[in-house]
Amino acid sequence: AENALIQSEKLAAVGRLASSISHEINNPLEAITNLLYLIALSDDLPPGARAYVQTAQSELSRVCQIATQTLRFHRQAVRASNVTAADLVDAVLNLYQGRLANSNIRVETTYTTQTRILCFENDIRQVLNNLIANAIDAMRQGGRLIIRAHDTTGKSDGYLKGRPGIRITIADTGHGMSPEVRARLFEPFYTTKDLNGTGLGLWISAGIVERHQGRLSFRSTQHPIHHGTIFSLFLPWAEQPYPPASQ
Ligand code: ADP
Repeated sequence: AENALIQSEKLAAVGRLASSISHEINNPLEAITNLLYLIALSDDLPPGARAYVQTAQSELSRVCQIATQTLRFHRQAVRASNVTAADLVDAVLNLYQGRLANSNIRVETTYTTQTRILCFENDIRQVLNNLIANAIDAMRQGGRLIIRAHDTTGKSDGYLKGRPGIRITIADTGHGMSPEVRARLFEPFYTTKDLNGTGLGLWISAGIVERHQGRLSFRSTQHPIHHGTIFSLFLPWAEQPYPPASQ
């Protein structure tokens, strides 16, 4: 029975991985599809090149199909579930155990909420995953990763209109962000990591949080001594999350 449990956990983990990979590659795939379409439209393509473009288009459509099917396959099985902030954060931190152990980063977690929130667990984990990965990326020289979760009445933030929920904050003592980055970080494809970044992490995260009727905000400073970033994720407890439109 124990083996069966491990096996099903492994399958679930593979499903999550496949789903997040598909999620991340869907947008670049769409961009390539559009670009090839534009190339194929042009009248002055040499005949040889046209044949190459057509082959590329049909191969690409196969890849797109695989990506959307993987996404859908995983999505359909997903139901919103009731989880605590600790369930969510610990599951993600576990994935980073190795990387954190080999770094100079100290992790502190403080959870003062036991409230169960109705959410799409895999999606919210993906959000936390993106935030934690970004925090680690910002602390190449080491530092502190401080994660807290607490209940909130929603009254201190006008945007929340007094809706109660939980708040998870992820703070790092990394390099912080310039005004330009602060203005653009939620844009798709905006990255300062060159080939190591896709610039999709925060854009996707913002979309997921929106479907949960929550809020994702941040503060960041490059002050020479007190530099760092804090992201704050609010999830309301009374709202039904809605699934992705493509479902
Ligand atoms: P990616 O991580 O692939 O670049 P994201 O959308 O997750 O894409 O982030 C966009 C950009 O926002 C990053 O390239 C980085 O410049 C900035 N950023 C996000 N989180 C942090 C953080 N914790 N500290 C400093 N910069 C950050």
